[in-house]
Amino acid sequence: MATLSITGGQVLLPDGTVTRADVLIDQEGGEILEVGPNLAGEETLDASGGLVTPGFVNGHSHVAMTLLRGYADDKPLESWLQEDIWPAEGELTAEDVRVGAELGLLEMIKGGTTAFADMYFEMPEIVDAVDRAGLRARLGHGVVTVVKDDAGAREDLETSLEFAREYDSAADGRISTAFMPHSLTTVGREYLEEFVPKAREAGVPIHYHANETVDEVTPIVEDRGVRPLAYAAELGMLEPEDFVAHGVHVDESEIGLLAEAGTGVVHCPASNMKLASGMAPVQRMLEAGVAVGLGTDGAASNNDLSMLDEARDAAMIGKLAAEDASAVPAERIAELLTHSTADAIGLESGRLEEGAPADLAVIDLEEPHLTPAHDLVSQLAYAAAASDVRHTICDGQVLMRDREVLTLEEDAVLERASEAAESLVARAEE
Ligand SMILES: [Zn+2]
Repeated sequence: MATLSITGGQVLLPDGTVTRADVLIDQEGGEILEVGPNLAGEETLDASGGLVTPGFVNGHSHVAMTLLRGYADDKPLESWLQEDIWPAEGELTAEDVRVGAELGLLEMIKGGTTAFADMYFEMPEIVDAVDRAGLRARLGHGVVTVVKDDAGAREDLETSLEFAREYDSAADGRISTAFMPHSLTTVGREYLEEFVPKAREAGVPIHYHANETVDEVTPIVEDRGVRPLAYAAELGMLEPEDFVAHGVHVDESEIGLLAEAGTGVVHCPASNMKLASGMAPVQRMLEAGVAVGLGTDGAASNNDLSMLDEARDAAMIGKLAAEDASAVPAERIAELLTHSTADAIGLESGRLEEGAPADLAVIDLEEPHLTPAHDLVSQLAYAAAASDVRHTICDGQVLMRDREVLTLEEDAVLERASEAAESLVARAEE
């Protein structure tokens, strides 16, 4: 057994308290062996002056969209998608997806993220990038049927189902999958009726966008006579292992459905603010017992993949939405950064305790904006930034040491991504 000790830091425990301790991990088994004083491993990682936290969990992303970061800003969701994003995505090659994913994974590692959920296409490329980068992920092929004929729609649905079946537990078990219809309005009812039972048979969860904008809610209410999440429940898409992205425009009846079903909701505050989609009632959902997680969404609507930025946004907008400064407090944010989101997307991660997966990050506290140290959970929620992350470890493997990423070649990734993005935009605008 190869052991690594992370020494000299203060450790964020699952109950939200912070204590001075070392962390001993089994690198081969990818497991935390012990959290306590004076632990020595064969190798040592210095965490002095730092906060050792579980690795952050990004509950909803489109990681290869990094290539479209800053390409089309300042538009609402529908026109942003239809005029800019979908035409550009129509030009994406498998190679572009791989290069864009590498850029996104590099950014995640540098920001202390060790696990994420992702919906996109050309997913085997993302599997390959995740395998090499060393993160943990729940991945799925996003299905859109509304712009396709029946044969095209079926092919897309089969691709999603096949991917979910084939790649579950890939990358030494670090990859899990899901069946991922894009949303309740972009996939036809007859297809959901046919394929949701197939996903259940395959034993994979279902992930989709829901109630992101008013424009996504109104057509369902008009056509079906029920709210979107009641429609989802009718279709069997509201199970404990399932999770939806956004949940901005949910009413009390839908909050009740989510809480009762145990279905996760991944809150994406930066994307919701940037696209002016609305303010999710996060405090209300938390009070009702909904399994809330936190995610960045794609880099084209954020525009970064920093979970620490997202954490601060979630706290701020959560207070504003509830008109209550005590809503979505720092300790809740620390949970959303880590185990709450892992639980919402069904990944085992996010807790620094004996026997848990060795997924963690060390935040450098010796910075002006993190001084003084009255309350380290407050610093994490309100003041820390991605650039403060010193080390990142996933499944026992050191992915970044002293800000040097060890699993991806940073300069080469940036160069390839810049070139691919430039060529992509030129093709889209031809
Ligand atoms: Zn999304």
